[in-house]
Amino acid sequence: MIIAPERIPVAGPSITDREPELAAEAARTAWYGNHYAYNARFEKMMAEYVGVRHAVGVPHATAALHVIFAALGIGPGDEVIVPDVTWIASVAPVVYVGAEPVLVDILPDTWCIDPAAVEAAIGPKTKAILGVDLYGSMCDWDALQAIADKHGLHLIEDAAEALGSSYNGRRAGSFGRAAAFSFHGSKTVATGEGGMFVTDDADLAKRMLFLRDHGRNPGDRFFLNHEVAFKYRMNAVTAALGIAQMERIDELITHKRAIFRWYQERLGNLNGITLNAEPAGVVNSYWMVTSVFDPALGYDKFELMAAFDKRNIDTRPFFSPLSSLPAFDDRPNAKRLVKPDDRGQAIAKHSINLPSGYNMTEEKVDIVCRAMREILSVPR
Ligand SMILES: *Cc1c(COP(=O)(O)O)cnc(C)c1O
Repeated sequence: MIIAPERIPVAGPSITDREPELAAEAARTAWYGNHYAYNARFEKMMAEYVGVRHAVGVPHATAALHVIFAALGIGPGDEVIVPDVTWIASVAPVVYVGAEPVLVDILPDTWCIDPAAVEAAIGPKTKAILGVDLYGSMCDWDALQAIADKHGLHLIEDAAEALGSSYNGRRAGSFGRAAAFSFHGSKTVATGEGGMFVTDDADLAKRMLFLRDHGRNPGDRFFLNHEVAFKYRMNAVTAALGIAQMERIDELITHKRAIFRWYQERLGNLNGITLNAEPAGVVNSYWMVTSVFDPALGYDKFELMAAFDKRNIDTRPFFSPLSSLPAFDDRPNAKRLVKPDDRGQAIAKHSINLPSGYNMTEEKVDIVCRAMREILSVPR
């Protein structure tokens, strides 16, 4: 049996000397009048890279989405159409503001929300559509924007997994009213924990700045709170880590794409296996190289994970449909449009994320792919 000589983790960042140096500098100097300097620099770098006017650092992407939904006035009695297959952080903030998520199916190739399913789910209570750029794939943003425009709905982008991807020349994070990024340690740009909301809309940015700082107007020195809101600010040390990562963004994306290419060269023509899609007009930053197994092969994702685990290789299950999780047991209204034969149900059951951390080398990818062939060669 093929066994990796050293445990191969599924995700992890690329940290050079620059990141801790800048973090230490921030810990020393980001005080008094300089307290926001690193945050401002990180925010400017993100806004320029994504191609939007406003970017604001928060503790994590979950907070970014919470502030976005709250600032758009989404609340009790409202519905937000979301993909059934995503990380729960995309959808939990809909619940935080008291609105009801409505789960719909995903597309077979990009694994992003299906615009036709979105349109079919629109009702009198619908206020917004949330597109999630899953694993670095891009949503069909033209179709989603057309639907949002036609029905007068807010479109929001969860770009937590897609920094560096683009769609028809526009970067992830530049679609819809506002978007959220995550800098969790597993993400493409990593600060441990961290997030950002971005938007082109000055009024919306102002409202989000107000809500993320206990209902104070930006620049308020009199400690006058106009509403009970949230405290979602990013630490300067975190921002310094983010600056050091953004200085290397091109190198980081190039390495992510190289990891995908190494896998594709080895697994691309294996029968019954589909990897991440990169349709015409899209650049995929391949946050997680993902292997979708044809249901006919009969593999369960947890069984596959166990087979890799025995070989000293870490993998992750494709996100389980939210509709299948205990967390949504008491939300029949959220699940009312999900059907057992939805594409997302089959994809999520038979698929895993392969090791995609920045410490992957071509040699390690080779070990994972040989392990995969071995696992698939065992008669079942
Ligand atoms: C990681 C992630 C989030 C949440 O990010 P945090 O920074 O951990 O809050 C949201 N949506 C998606 C799709 C994610 O992968």
